[in-house]
Amino acid sequence: MKRTLITPLAWIVLVCVQAQPKQMCITIDDLPVVSYTKTDLEFLSEVTEALVATFDAFKIPAIGYVNESKLYHNGQLDPGRVKLLELWLQNGYELGNHTYAHKNYHRVSFSEYAEDIIKGEQVTKPLVQEYDMEYQFFRHPYLRIGSTKAHHDSLKQFLDKKGYREAPVTIDNEDYLFAKAYHLAYMENDTSTVKKIAGTYLIYMEEKLLYYEDMAERLLGRSMKQTLLLHANLLNAHYLDDLARMYQSHGYVFISQGEVLKDDAYDKPIIKYGDWGISWLDRWALSQGKKGEFFKGDPVTPKFVREMAK
Ligand SMILES: [Zn+2]
Repeated sequence: MKRTLITPLAWIVLVCVQAQPKQMCITIDDLPVVSYTKTDLEFLSEVTEALVATFDAFKIPAIGYVNESKLYHNGQLDPGRVKLLELWLQNGYELGNHTYAHKNYHRVSFSEYAEDIIKGEQVTKPLVQEYDMEYQFFRHPYLRIGSTKAHHDSLKQFLDKKGYREAPVTIDNEDYLFAKAYHLAYMENDTSTVKKIAGTYLIYMEEKLLYYEDMAERLLGRSMKQTLLLHANLLNAHYLDDLARMYQSHGYVFISQGEVLKDDAYDKPIIKYGDWGISWLDRWALSQGKKGEFFKGDPVTPKFVREMAK
């Protein structure tokens, strides 16, 4: 019997051709910065500069979602805070709308919410256009998209009319709890707690990645272009580079908001609604009738982090 021999080099070529890199879009919410106890411009600049430096270093075509209420200081539009947004644009990073005051669509009237969307584009939209970039994406605060189909449809229609595309999230997580705990410990110079939170955060985020990768495989029968949600805070300013390395070690390259939405997984219908702020993978799974067992193994935020973030 004649055996076909494949040389080691041929194997490498074969593996390289077959192994398409996995793709991920990194989206950052609550711009310019989630500042907790520290609101001076110097601190806000430090966080922004660190995030942008990491995008540059790891070739992350990130998008930031802005709450324009945070551009005001003592009731006045603060040019220093607007400059933070310009730092994103100057370096080629996109900005989108996250409403003016981070309102929950499930808790306010439609007209109040719609008004908050329009109020949320007043500064950012002209600024983005000055940089010859497109302003077109909307991220729902608290990932609340509407508690019924009709409730969601009316928002979707409004967004369509205003030229916005919805920006779903697939890798949802509680980075904001870790971030608050980290921020408080950091400001108290509690080095051992700072290290403990950061170490736990990196493990938790890797577990979340694996959880949602696996869910995508089980739901779609294939991997998908993932969308990660993070927030603009001190924790991510310090550890986004470690996160990026972790994602790279799992075979990821980073892509833009427009690119990630080319995956037709994002066109899957949603027919189940509730008072949920969840991943779109969860929404698609619920819409397909998946129950309890399907969602097993979702990594939880450790109790000590939850306690600290209270
Ligand atoms: Zn938000």
